[in-house]
Amino acid sequence: MTSHQVKLFDDYLARQILKFSIDVSVAIDELGVVLMASESVSRVFGWQPDEIVGENIRVFASESQLKQFDQYLAQCLGSENENSIGHAHQFKGIHKGGSYIACEITVWRDDDSHRQNRYIGIIRDITEHLKSKNKLGEYLERLKQSRKQLKRKIHELKSAQKVVARANQAKSEFLANMSHEVRTPMTAILGYSEALKEKLDSKDNLEFIDIIQKNGSHLLQVINDILDISKIEMGNFEIMKVDFSPTKILQEIVDEFESQASQKGLNLYTRYHDLIPSSIQSDPLRMKQVLMNLVSNAIKFTESGSVYLEIRMLSQSKDDRLLQYIVSDTGIGIPKEKMKYIFEPFAQVDSSSSRNYGGTGVGLTLSHKLVQLLGGNLSVQSTVNRGSVFTVTLNVDEKNFSRQSDKSSQNFCTSGAVRRVENNHDDKNVSPGARGKILLVDDTKEIRKLFSYMLNKMGLEVVTASNGKEAVDLVHEATIKEDFYHLILMDMQMPVMNGYEATQLLRSQKNQIPIIAITAHTLVSDREKCLAAGCTEYLSKPIKYEVLREVVHRYLPQKKEVLSN
Ligand code: ADP
Repeated sequence: MTSHQVKLFDDYLARQILKFSIDVSVAIDELGVVLMASESVSRVFGWQPDEIVGENIRVFASESQLKQFDQYLAQCLGSENENSIGHAHQFKGIHKGGSYIACEITVWRDDDSHRQNRYIGIIRDITEHLKSKNKLGEYLERLKQSRKQLKRKIHELKSAQKVVARANQAKSEFLANMSHEVRTPMTAILGYSEALKEKLDSKDNLEFIDIIQKNGSHLLQVINDILDISKIEMGNFEIMKVDFSPTKILQEIVDEFESQASQKGLNLYTRYHDLIPSSIQSDPLRMKQVLMNLVSNAIKFTESGSVYLEIRMLSQSKDDRLLQYIVSDTGIGIPKEKMKYIFEPFAQVDSSSSRNYGGTGVGLTLSHKLVQLLGGNLSVQSTVNRGSVFTVTLNVDEKNFSRQSDKSSQNFCTSGAVRRVENNHDDKNVSPGARGKILLVDDTKEIRKLFSYMLNKMGLEVVTASNGKEAVDLVHEATIKEDFYHLILMDMQMPVMNGYEATQLLRSQKNQIPIIAITAHTLVSDREKCLAAGCTEYLSKPIKYEVLREVVHRYLPQKKEVLSN
């Protein structure tokens, strides 16, 4: 191709590009007069390319935006004002027919150095682009609003959670306080009825007292259960981890329930499978509490037949050992549809006012929570009118194993045949020779009277004080007279001076009298608090006569010592 042919070909290609380009391309002089325009000018502005030649490019701008358009042109055209060359400018364009178009123009200088005062303008219809941009803007705005709303909702939710947590805390505290407040009058009710029993000989009256005691104990059990649940919910429920015999607990439960079962005409069987560890690490008190609840329910919901108490090892691998307690009965069973609610608070299969069985529906909830705290699992299987099976599975950290005797292994034995377990409050623990003078400190008159009665019955001399300050004064007086007290029973919550302060004061004065703390609080930490204050022992209300007698005698000096004191 000759150079002339090449030029012709280039011109042809340039025209083709201009013909099909979407943007409008115009050549203008330094005054903005159109020298040439691409075909797209007719599509965008309605002008024919020939028709626009000689017109000023300003015809593309709408009246309202002419001022800014002129300013932009002025900054592009002319040899001294070329600041805006290559920079895009948006403007409201106008179609020859009068409609408006969103446009963007970019002006470039013609590269040909011989034609210094020629410029190329590229004008783009940005209507669709702006629409999408606006839409995107709207979406972004909506997204922003949604994010704000979400943030607000999260904030509201967090505040609501805090309110719920506070309400829950308040509820739990109320329950804890309430059950604590109930425990003190219950001490009086149960204590006085026990005391009264000894003074009555009419069969009817004795029966009445029995009913009061039975119901009082039941009420106390309900209060204790509710207190335990609220403690668990507050997260301050303490679990011990000590060594104990898993089979001994079974024995203790049988001892506890055998008469109740036989009164109802039920058999109470125990069964030990092979290779039960003689000692495991867990919380024996809580474990017993769970099993007592399960056995008590089994007896309650069984009219005839038997209640079985089993213990077995499930897994035989070295590291993973599961111990199971199984309580089963031949009772009324639980309908399938009720099974999933059975561990929820206050859930009862029959909650009608005409139901046959008493109860509050908290026992299983508490048992379930307790077993979880022990790191185990409580499950149930049941068939209506056939009976129920409750299984406690514990992962045990066994100390060692002992094979049970062949007689009990793999065999059921009736409760009557079960070995009796060691009794902590056995009479051998009580020293018959113990005598002494007791200082009894409690702000409740009835409790002072009740404990005085119990202590007098043990043959002890009692002096009372109604608060810590009185107690400290009495101890000082006795020291001066050299007529010492041998033991102090100290209520911990009292006006004027509480038991903690009084104990601390006495200990700071080097007084070594045994001080037994008496409190209606039942947490392990309460016990620790009492011991940290200097108390020798801790008892929680209500206190049975036998328990008081055992503890008092444990800390009283023997008769000989008293005389020589
Ligand atoms: P309560 O016995 O005080 O009602 P629980 O929480 O111990 O409360 O038990 C909840 C309910 O579960 C009972 O009311 C009873 O309907 C059902 N239930 C528990 N144990 C048994 C059982 N061994 N046999 C049949 N139903 C049972």
